[in-house]
Amino acid sequence: MDKILSGKAVAQHIRTNVKKNIENLLQKQIKPVLAILRVGMRSDDIAYERAIVRACEEVGVKAEIMTYEADICMVNFVKELKALNENKEINGIMIFRPLPKQLNEDYIKNIIAPNKDIDCMNPENMVKLFEGDTRGLLPCTPSAVLELMKYYNISMEGKHIAILGRSMVVGKPLSMLLLKENATVTICHSKTKDLEEITSRADIVIAAIGKPRFVKQEFLKHGSIVIDVGINMDEEGKLCGDVDYDDVFDKVAAITPVLGGVGTVTTSVLLKNLAAAAEKQIG
Ligand code: NAP
Repeated sequence: MDKILSGKAVAQHIRTNVKKNIENLLQKQIKPVLAILRVGMRSDDIAYERAIVRACEEVGVKAEIMTYEADICMVNFVKELKALNENKEINGIMIFRPLPKQLNEDYIKNIIAPNKDIDCMNPENMVKLFEGDTRGLLPCTPSAVLELMKYYNISMEGKHIAILGRSMVVGKPLSMLLLKENATVTICHSKTKDLEEITSRADIVIAAIGKPRFVKQEFLKHGSIVIDVGINMDEEGKLCGDVDYDDVFDKVAAITPVLGGVGTVTTSVLLKNLAAAAEKQIG
C-alpha cells in the first residue's frame, strides 16, 4: 500500500468506468444532465461547482447551473426544485449545503425526487443505507471514502475504525457503509470523552469534524491508517485538513493528503451516481 493515499488515481479509476456508462447512454441518445442548485455566492460552493463542471465536461455530461439570490424565499425555492423534479431532461439534482437560514433544509430534502437525488439528501434514500441496502444512490463523500479504501486494498473486516464527526453528510452514513464492510465502528463527536484514548486504539481513523489540524500524533497508534475528510482554512488562510499531516506522518502507515485527497474522489462519485440515476430512469 502507498503511504500517501492520493485521491487522484482513485478519481481517475472511477471516471474511466463512468465514461463507459455514459458512452452506453449516449448510444441510446441519452446525454445525462445534472442540475446544480446554488444559493448565493459562497466561494467554497463556487470552487466546488467549477470542479464539478470540469468533471462533467470530461465524461460528456451536461451540467445546468441554477443560481439563486441568497435571500430567495422558501416558496420560490421549492417551486424551482419541484419543476426540476418534473423535468424529464434532468437526471440528477444536487443542492449546495448549508442553505441560508430562510430555507428549511429538513423540508427541502424531503422534496427532492429520490430517483434524482444524487447526493442522497432525501431520507427515503438514506433509510435504505441505514437498513444495509447499498444498491441505491449513496451519499457522495462517505462513498468516496469507501472507494478510496477499496482502491488501496485497505482491509476493513474486523478492523476498529474510529470516525470523528457524526454529521448526516459524512460521519453517520459513513459508519453504515463501514459496518456493511464488517468493520467495528466507533463514532466520536464533540461530547465524546477520552477521544484520544479511543482513536489511539483504532486501526483506522477517519476525521470529519471541520477543525484545522485537530488530530495530532498522540491521537494515533503506530502504523494506523488515517483518512482526512476535513477541508479547512487555518488562521493564515492556508488550506488544511482535520489532521495535522506533518505531525502524524512518521507515525502512520498511510494517510490521505488534503489537496488531491478524499475531495477529489467525491466529485467522481457524484458523476457515478448521476450515470446510475440516468440508467435507472430509462429502465
Ligand atoms: P459538520 O456538519 O459541522 O459536523 C461536524 C461534526 O464534527 C459534528 O458531528 C461535531 O460534533 C463533530 N465535532 C466538532 N468538533 C469536534 C471535536 N472537537 N471533537 C470531536 N468531534 C467534533 O461538518 P461536516 O459537514 O460533516 O464536515 C466535516 C468536515 O469535512 C469539514 O471540514 C468539511 O469541510 C469536510 N467535508 C469534506 C468533504 C469532501 O468531499 N472531502 C465533503 C463534506 C465535508 P457534534 O455533533 O457533537 O456537534
